[in-house]
Amino acid sequence: MKTVAFHTLGCKVNQVETGQIKDELIQNGYRVIDFSQSADLYIINTCTVTHVSDRKSRAVIRRALKANPEATVIVTGCMAELEPDKIAAMQGVNLVVGNRDKHRIAQIIEPLKGEARIIREPISPQDMLAPALYHSHHERTRAFVKIQDGCQSFCTYCIVPYTRGPVRSKAPDDVIREVEQLVQLGYREIVLTGIHTGQYGRSTPDWTLDGLLEKILASVPGSYRIRLSSIELGEISDRLLELIKSENRLCRHLHIPLQSGSDRVLKRMARRYTRDEYQRRILEIAALIPGVGFAADVMVGFPGETVDDFASTVQLLQSLPLLDLHVFKYSPRPGTPAASYPDQIDERVKNERSKVLLSMARQKHREFMKSMMGQVFTVLVEECESGRCKGFSDNYINIEFSSPHDLCGQFIEVVLDGIHRNYAVARIYA
Ligand code: SF4
Repeated sequence: MKTVAFHTLGCKVNQVETGQIKDELIQNGYRVIDFSQSADLYIINTCTVTHVSDRKSRAVIRRALKANPEATVIVTGCMAELEPDKIAAMQGVNLVVGNRDKHRIAQIIEPLKGEARIIREPISPQDMLAPALYHSHHERTRAFVKIQDGCQSFCTYCIVPYTRGPVRSKAPDDVIREVEQLVQLGYREIVLTGIHTGQYGRSTPDWTLDGLLEKILASVPGSYRIRLSSIELGEISDRLLELIKSENRLCRHLHIPLQSGSDRVLKRMARRYTRDEYQRRILEIAALIPGVGFAADVMVGFPGETVDDFASTVQLLQSLPLLDLHVFKYSPRPGTPAASYPDQIDERVKNERSKVLLSMARQKHREFMKSMMGQVFTVLVEECESGRCKGFSDNYINIEFSSPHDLCGQFIEVVLDGIHRNYAVARIYA
């Protein structure tokens, strides 16, 4: 039996796509082994969102080439999309596959000898998103369904529109079929994900994100819940909020990128909202959906970010009821407008600002959990060991509680009692 080893860098969508290739190769008779072992085939799904991801992607390719010089090495993902020639020139790489054809890797593996081949076609808005087939569990309780790909927003710092192409969406019937399969396989939480999830259906007037959610909930029976991956502020419809409020199979969890609390910086980033609009909408949603867990992405050190700009970000974040704050340091990506802005920020300043926000992130996380004490939550249990069960609530609080039973994969009602480190401690609600 041939062996295959995978390494995936970057975002959730990459993880989902690797999962699909893995599933197909298992069906084709491959055995999956750890990346550190000597495999017959290595598949590396790269990322290029920062210069660090670039470096890591290259290092992983070199690791595979070293682990078994006789192996077939396939490189795909965003770095393969952006720099196929450079990757193909790495001695020992057999195949470089762009993002458009990634889902076909299991069908194009053989024969691969001699000089590296490159399969990289331009991505067109007409390229349909292939439906996925699921045969086996990759994780215990949570599965991801890719409903959308591509982005046309061209924020000035972001390389993604150049690597993922224009917006495409998966047909609602295909999404429903995938959710159905996953629920039948035993998954209890389905995360709908994409590169720019809120743009679902952008080029197909009948397909909308809220409409898709309604259809899934109406058509897929069973005990499960649905979580949405990150969504831009302007793409949260009132209908979506109503659904989250009224339907307990939809998680009260919204990950809404902010990036900066300074209007000047937001404008230079080509983001499509102001700081006031962001603040107003978050507070409005918090009032409408009690207990909703918000996550936000924030970038520090965007070119020209002044002390005052950063202070505006800090001030805005302080005013928001956030559960999670993801802090990123700006990394210039060649080919994006911001990379050529003259007022780049010193790495030391980026580090200092990042430190400030990371400390605030911990404080906000605790504050949010504290505000939820005494309330009842349904936890989807992901892990039970030595009498301790761990899982997440629908609003994404990490919860631990005691139980002599193995409750993995079950929904359990608990009451929050306290906080320990970065998680909430609870007891089973009797
Ligand atoms: S919305 Fe902006 S940050 Fe998000 S993927 Fe598109 S260009 Fe990048």
